[in-house]
Amino acid sequence: METTKITSAVFVKSSESLKQLPKPDKPEYAFIGRSNVGKSSLINTICQRKNLAKTSATPGKTRLINHFLINDSWYLVDLPGYGYARVSHSMREKFSDFVREYLLKRESLVNTYVLIDSRLKPQKIDLEFMEWMALNNLPFTIVFTKTDKLSNNELTANLIQYRTAMLAFWESMPPQVITSSVSGRGREEILTQIVQYNQFFKSQK
Ligand code: GDP
Repeated sequence: METTKITSAVFVKSSESLKQLPKPDKPEYAFIGRSNVGKSSLINTICQRKNLAKTSATPGKTRLINHFLINDSWYLVDLPGYGYARVSHSMREKFSDFVREYLLKRESLVNTYVLIDSRLKPQKIDLEFMEWMALNNLPFTIVFTKTDKLSNNELTANLIQYRTAMLAFWESMPPQVITSSVSGRGREEILTQIVQYNQFFKSQK
C-alpha cells in the first residue's frame, strides 16, 4: 500500500519539446504558477529535499519542463512559470506553446497544481489560466502559497476574494489546498491526494 512518505526523489531530466519527455508510463503531477509564487520552495518541501527544485529562476532554464521521479512510482513535474508580460495579451503569448501542448496532450498527466500567492488580490493572469484549464477540461487543484506570511484573518479575507472572483464565472470552486513551505502546511494534504490519484491511475491500467 502506497503511503505519503517520500523515500526517494530524483531529478530525471529537463525537456524542451514533447518528444523529449520521459515515457508516459507513470502518473504525473504538474506544478505551475507565476514566477516567484513559491513553486520551487513548495516542491522542495513536498519532497523534503533542500535543493531538488532550484529556488529562483535560473536564466535560460525557465522554458524547460523538469521531471522528478518520486518513490520510483510517480513524476512530479516542474513547469515553467508564467506571467512575465505585464500587459495582458492572448494566451498564446503568455504561456509557451510547449506548456500548452504539454497540458493538452500529456496522457499520463493526472492533475495540475496551480500555485497562487495567498498574499495578493486575485490576479488576472491566474484567473485566465484557470479558466483556460477549465475550458479544456483539465483537472487542477488551487494551491495557495506563502500563507505563513498572513494572519488568519488576512488569509480568510483573501480566500474569500478569490472565491468571489472565481464564482463570477464558475459554478463551483475547484479543490483548494492552503500551504506554507516554511511550516509544511498543506504538504500532507497534497501527498494524500497524489497517493489516491496514483491508486486510481493503476486501476485504469
Ligand atoms: P518560484 O520562482 O515560484 O520557484 O519561487 P521560490 O520558491 O523561489 O520562492 C520565491 C521567494 O518566496 C523566495 O524568497 C522564497 O524563500 C519565498 N517563499 C517561497 N515559499 C514561501 C513560503 O511558504 N513562506 C514564506 N514565508 N516564504 C516563501
